[in-house]
Amino acid sequence: MSWRDLRCGEPRGDHVGRTLTLAGWTARRRDHGGLVFVDLRDHTGVTQLVVNPERSAVAAEIAKEIRNEFVLRATGALVARSPETVNPSMPTGDVELHVDELEIVSRSTPLPFQLDEDNVDEVLRLRYRWLDLRTERMQRNLRTRATVVAAIRRSMEEQGFVDVWTPGLTLGTPEGARDFLVPVRLQPGSFFALAQSPQLFKQALMIGGFDRYYQIATCWRDEDLRADRQFEFRQLDLELAFATREDVLDVLERVVAASFESIGREPPELPFPRLSYEEAMLRYGSDKPDLRFELEIQDGTGVTRGSEFGVFAGASCVRFLVVPKAFSRGELANLEEFAKEWGAKGLAYLVHDESGATRSPVAKFLSPAELEAFAAPPGSTTLFVADERRVVERVLGALRLHLGRELGLVDDEREAFHWILDFPLFQLDEDTGRWTFVHHPFTGPLEGHEDLIESDPASALSQHYDLIWNGWELGSGSIRIHRSDVQEQVFRAMGMDDEEAKAKFGWFLNALQMGAPPHGGFALGLDRFVALLAGEPNIREVIAFPKVASGADPLTGAPAKARGEQLDELGIRVIVPEP
Ligand code: ASP
Repeated sequence: MSWRDLRCGEPRGDHVGRTLTLAGWTARRRDHGGLVFVDLRDHTGVTQLVVNPERSAVAAEIAKEIRNEFVLRATGALVARSPETVNPSMPTGDVELHVDELEIVSRSTPLPFQLDEDNVDEVLRLRYRWLDLRTERMQRNLRTRATVVAAIRRSMEEQGFVDVWTPGLTLGTPEGARDFLVPVRLQPGSFFALAQSPQLFKQALMIGGFDRYYQIATCWRDEDLRADRQFEFRQLDLELAFATREDVLDVLERVVAASFESIGREPPELPFPRLSYEEAMLRYGSDKPDLRFELEIQDGTGVTRGSEFGVFAGASCVRFLVVPKAFSRGELANLEEFAKEWGAKGLAYLVHDESGATRSPVAKFLSPAELEAFAAPPGSTTLFVADERRVVERVLGALRLHLGRELGLVDDEREAFHWILDFPLFQLDEDTGRWTFVHHPFTGPLEGHEDLIESDPASALSQHYDLIWNGWELGSGSIRIHRSDVQEQVFRAMGMDDEEAKAKFGWFLNALQMGAPPHGGFALGLDRFVALLAGEPNIREVIAFPKVASGADPLTGAPAKARGEQLDELGIRVIVPEP
């Protein structure tokens, strides 16, 4: 006995006249007074079964009981439909199975939602994920994911990378998030941290002579969940020894192209444009700019020095956007509100009307040189933010994105990939007042910037790079520090004394002292990459069993309280915080 001869989406005219057995789920059942039609579905599609009491009285009796999502097995003759019943919108639409034998293989309780229903509540979908997974959308997404991951693996293997597994249970790895701790029964009071990434292990592999490593790695980070982030995620993790930055970028560009090709999409043009961090912040006010539209920020700081307009004169940074629309007062008030939400004190403007006239409360304070510098075509508006550089960048970056979308400037047909290079090595941690890493503490300084680590950390640039697609950060990497003295310097600049550095990273400093080759790598976040490839708005649509924003899993009910004896064994006493 076999369960099926074909899948439900496979019967065609060529099979007419054959006796076939099909098995699948009931997508729909229609009873036409004795004659019962059943759409039998699996992931390949749907075939119509026709149960006729004149053909099989037993099958007709069974057919009465069928409800949606019952699993059926049906044997019968595959028949060409009469011309008026052919359904051209279905690939199997010119055939149907006239049933001789019918078996209900498995029943279903009433369904919490129908599979063809739109806008089903997400928590409900996740609670009944096994049903949701049967929808065309989820079938398509998870299969797209598998196809892309297979293509990535193929590309990595072709490029000479070796797949090596690294531990999930480890010591803390600093990637900027909190660790998930795992208590250890055999050593009460000791904890593993779940790896935030394989960072140090992959560097150890380089020191261990594997010059091209990769892994589809699971990482765990305890941080707030967002549309594009959850506690555990997968990344294409890779590292190369004796590699320049260009070597690493080239590997990733090939991987992206192979991913597009695997799902039949035209790959983006290679190589991807490269932009320095400084340039990105100046022109787009963001380190992950969306380059599907032009709208660029311009600098007016020089020309406004000594301005009669006090707001400009008193600000350390004045920048502006020329927007291709002459805004009304009401629109300007809304834009000012928006700018204030992002931290601006106000929003100065010059409206260049279609008639050629300029509307602006500040124009009268501006010198001819300023007016010339800010001149713009009729039918446009110059919007200014004057403040500290960081605030100006943030506000104009947000305004640029907002206006790009509002005014329909974003070219949805375009796929804009690019690299951001030369990030700062350090940033100030506002809580502790200490220097902390921008990427992670193993990122190498830019050549020639080694001395700045101690003398001027604020100006030290790094060899960190990010890959951006349509304004989304797909991943980060860097050329690493491969000298223990430089590594120690970086730890010190971050306020770590030698003892602390030794306790946290002693083994790694040791490894750096035993023949560490120059090396660098990258990690590409797969969830986000696949969600974008699949055209999905969030990563949960491309993860089989995701968690919701609170971090909980509606399917299993995890996380859950531990039993008393489990806690005793681990030597753990739980103190529940006061509500
Ligand atoms: N470890 C980094 C991350 O997981 C990636 C890298 O630097 O290779 O984001």
